[in-house]
Amino acid sequence: MSDHYGNIKVDQMKSIADDTKKEAVDTEEQVPVSSGVSVSPDPSSSLPTTGTDATSSTLLCKQRSRSHSRPGKDEKTSRGKSVFDRSVQGSVVPALAIKKINIAENEQTLHIKGTGKILQGKSETNGNYVTIPASQNIHETRREDGLKPSRKRRPVTVDTSKAKTSLEALKLSIKQLKWKEFPMGRRAACDIYWHGVSFHDNENIVSGQVNKFPGMVEMLRKINLSRAVRTMQEVFPEEYDFYPRSWILPEEYQQFSTQIRVVKENDSTVNPTFIVKPDGGSQGDGIYLIRDPSDLKLMVGSQAKQAVVQEYIPKPLLIDKLKFDIRLYVLIKSLEPLEIYIAKEGLTRFCTEPYQEPSQKNLSHVFMHLTNYSLNVHSGNFVHSDSQNTGSKRTLSSVLYRLAAKGVDIKRVWSDIIALVIKTVIAVVPELRVYYQADIPPGKPGPTCFQILGFDILLMKNLKPVLLEVNSNPSMRIEHEQEVAPGVFEYVPSPVDEEVKVGVIRDTLRLMDPFNKKQTISSQTKSGGLEHGEEIPVETESQGRSPDEMGNLPSLCLKQVYPKYTKQFNYLRLVERIAALFIRFLGVKGNMRLGPTAFRTFIRTCKLSNSNFTMASVDILYIDITRRWSGTLPDSREAGMGLQAFVEAFFYLAGRRFKSLVLKEQVMLLLELCEAQLGPQPSVEDRRSLSCSRALPRAIKTQTLCLTNPHLNSPVPQRRAASQDYQAHQRLKPRTLRANVEN
Ligand code: ADP
Repeated sequence: MSDHYGNIKVDQMKSIADDTKKEAVDTEEQVPVSSGVSVSPDPSSSLPTTGTDATSSTLLCKQRSRSHSRPGKDEKTSRGKSVFDRSVQGSVVPALAIKKINIAENEQTLHIKGTGKILQGKSETNGNYVTIPASQNIHETRREDGLKPSRKRRPVTVDTSKAKTSLEALKLSIKQLKWKEFPMGRRAACDIYWHGVSFHDNENIVSGQVNKFPGMVEMLRKINLSRAVRTMQEVFPEEYDFYPRSWILPEEYQQFSTQIRVVKENDSTVNPTFIVKPDGGSQGDGIYLIRDPSDLKLMVGSQAKQAVVQEYIPKPLLIDKLKFDIRLYVLIKSLEPLEIYIAKEGLTRFCTEPYQEPSQKNLSHVFMHLTNYSLNVHSGNFVHSDSQNTGSKRTLSSVLYRLAAKGVDIKRVWSDIIALVIKTVIAVVPELRVYYQADIPPGKPGPTCFQILGFDILLMKNLKPVLLEVNSNPSMRIEHEQEVAPGVFEYVPSPVDEEVKVGVIRDTLRLMDPFNKKQTISSQTKSGGLEHGEEIPVETESQGRSPDEMGNLPSLCLKQVYPKYTKQFNYLRLVERIAALFIRFLGVKGNMRLGPTAFRTFIRTCKLSNSNFTMASVDILYIDITRRWSGTLPDSREAGMGLQAFVEAFFYLAGRRFKSLVLKEQVMLLLELCEAQLGPQPSVEDRRSLSCSRALPRAIKTQTLCLTNPHLNSPVPQRRAASQDYQAHQRLKPRTLRANVEN
């Protein structure tokens, strides 16, 4: 995808720097407070800061040697206004914080009508293939499980053999639910499979539910997440202003250095800081701060390093003079229809060295700038605490309580956080849908999926939440490392982790209970997604199981935010509608990329070509865009045009057809036009007939040779037009065509 930041936004860069200048430095007393409330900070809960001097640590973090294996943490391979509709506010502030500040909240369990994916005793595996696995031959499987045949409903079965570091929390959750665990796996099908890393941890699952989506690991790598959010920023710049400006390395190195140079030349007082994060890295490994592009470490040996370089947020909110971030657990219960839940309780991770704004001198102070638990635990200042509101790891509610006591409008903070989560999920769902249909093609047996994600969020001093990253495998460990002797670390129980994580896993299981699938959504997603403003009626009722079956479990700690807030956010799901078109033309073979013929079929079927935009131009457009994208897509199983390339082509076509409008309107109109031409979502059979050969037609091959251009081989930045038509468009619409800014 081309670069959203390609136009040198000097004004914006300046404004960050201006903000930086305007805002005073650091202390928590400077937190904006809601009017009329003034509470002084609580000095008694200040973190001790004695211990070893952390300043000598370098920011380029290396794998630390330990006396044991690495922890399971994230095991991956200007507040000007609230961007969230105010009607959302106040309804979902974390429960504990609410309790403490005496705001009553009526807990409701939300049941949604109409999903119909899994029927009692039958699993509808991927939306349209019905099999009867887990309850099949119930007596046989009951004997195998050592269960007596009984009239009572059998317990839900969970395969925990691949759970890895979530195992402890998972076991406790299963026990609380009185479900049946299969730690070694099971010959018969289980209702739920709990994977530690990815969808593919267990192959050949044809029924039940798996706690990972295909493609999630890939989609949430730093580069792909940045690309997905940037695409949304292009269409909805204001709505997606919660993600720091980012450049992808190595391909956007030139743009990055040029932009920084120009900004500095325009105003010598501006000196922004950037954080460099290796793609696929975690736990702070390999992260470093820079102030000049020449400080980038671009190569590993002879290979260019894949990384994201990102604007560093210089003024985070501080508590006890320490930077901290929020780990929020988010459940994607289903992709189609989209269902998102947010855990009302999360964790906050604190730095262990008092914060100072970045300067050349302190750039390498890891314990000041990076909040990663896995780094700070090795600082002599790390405070392990059994209390939820002291120490270097605290519950989110304790932090919100602390802020509320200072008069901060925490309802607003919380609603902004919910908005950030929903928008981020909306950004990654289009590509996930492509992965999903490739791994579990319609008409083939397969499981349904759900997934718990870990959102890392930083609060700026002005209380605006900023997305740092999303972890596809957030650590579910309920122990933490403790140095029991110099250099010797052991895992000891962590009450704070247990409190939060067991609740999240247990309640995820409760929501995924196959015997509790009465939820229905009365308004199903259509081929192009839901209409803007369309409301999904949400029915409230108690859990499907009777109270005695569920025991005395606490109320759900997961709160539904989507489809609950469909009205406020549905209009953002434009790229998902483009993905739905893309998938229609992929065929049924589990492809992830469009061949040239399929692209032509798309253009023809949607009647997008004419005498000004001939099929020859279409072919050239296909070749141009596909070439630049080849190799940059998360999954290069096959050649052809991936979704991101297709989205770029779609934006181009939209800009071409509706020249005078802004991109959002252009895209919306083109979508409506295409959807009207295509009619309702086709059946599997219809998709077969739409499926096309990926062989390049002779005519295109010839043209490809004529167009050979070294710049076309590199992805986004050195884009060149291949057809006159395409070039003409670029002259007309420099903003729309990212090609222009990349030249
Ligand atoms: P990792 O996956 O390696 O933990 P993150 O993106 O979470 O990478 O970054 C590590 C830490 O660096 C974060 O926890 C946060 O403290 C800090 N950080 C990351 N991005 C930014 C940013 N743009 N501005 C300020 N601090 C950041």
